[in-house]
Amino acid sequence: MTEDRIPLAGVIGSPVAHSRSPKLHTYWLSVHGLRGHFIPIDVASDDLETVIRTMPAMGFVGCNVTIPYKEKVMSLADQITDRAILIGAANTLIFRRDGTIMADNTDGYGFIENLRQGAPNWSASDGKAVVLGAGGAARAVVAALADAGVSEILLTNRTRVRAEKIKEDFGMRIQVIDWVQAGNVLEEAALVVNTTSLGMTGKPEMRIPLDGLQKGTVVTDLVYEPLQTRLLREAEEAGCVTVDGLGMLLHQAVPCFERWFGLRPEVDAGTRAAALR
Ligand code: NAP
Repeated sequence: MTEDRIPLAGVIGSPVAHSRSPKLHTYWLSVHGLRGHFIPIDVASDDLETVIRTMPAMGFVGCNVTIPYKEKVMSLADQITDRAILIGAANTLIFRRDGTIMADNTDGYGFIENLRQGAPNWSASDGKAVVLGAGGAARAVVAALADAGVSEILLTNRTRVRAEKIKEDFGMRIQVIDWVQAGNVLEEAALVVNTTSLGMTGKPEMRIPLDGLQKGTVVTDLVYEPLQTRLLREAEEAGCVTVDGLGMLLHQAVPCFERWFGLRPEVDAGTRAAALR
């Protein structure tokens, strides 16, 4: 690639038209006066490898990866970061100058940075964290919470075996709770995280009884469509500190943008407004 070529990045998934990442990265490129473009790339499963292997020659310096390819892209990478291996999924690819592909996962970073920004008084030593869900996003959240030093995680999922698998992979700081018992452990929590898709526009509403939520507990939802889910609304009414899921999306993009375009952007009000536009 010649030095004066305009760097390209994008987000690969299917469907991907709804993604807020192009608005976000395009905003950062614009406010920092950087050359570059970020585009959504909807790829059929059979074409995934061909597309990814062709991208560097087209000027791509990397891309984000979203549903349903976060696991599949790992097999195309020459190097995978430890955290992506532990999570079992990658949301970021970096195309290196030597032609190799590195896969990373910045979702856990995005989660914890959003939590720190939205609930600055929360500390890992405050007590137990209740994590609802055991899908791909839950694995990133559990990795981030363990890394931050949370000493006990109560993990609950409709399909219990997925939660058991996370316990097996991440170790003994996790206690698996039956999904039907989820409402009963909320009062023990210093932090409650919804990593399920419940409450998302077009998905079923979360039905867990929320009356156990205590004043001062930090409650965060990974769902950001709508921004205020029923969980966050009821948590706010109960006097909890609430953090919406949009910030996780914004923060996970920071290290990606830095690697691809060479500048570390801020997540500020302008960034949020751009992503919501
Ligand atoms: P996933 O791997 O498909 O996992 C989905 C999770 O939701 C599983 O725990 C699943 O339970 C649970 N679930 C789905 N339908 C349910 C129902 N009717 N009742 C009970 N549980 C149900 O998806 P993911 O990648 O982890 O993503 C989960 C959510 O996080 C999505 O809404 C996604 O948009 C959001 N997310 C947000 C960000 C962000 O930056 N804010 C980043 C990543 C993901 P089972 O195991 O029983 O199916």
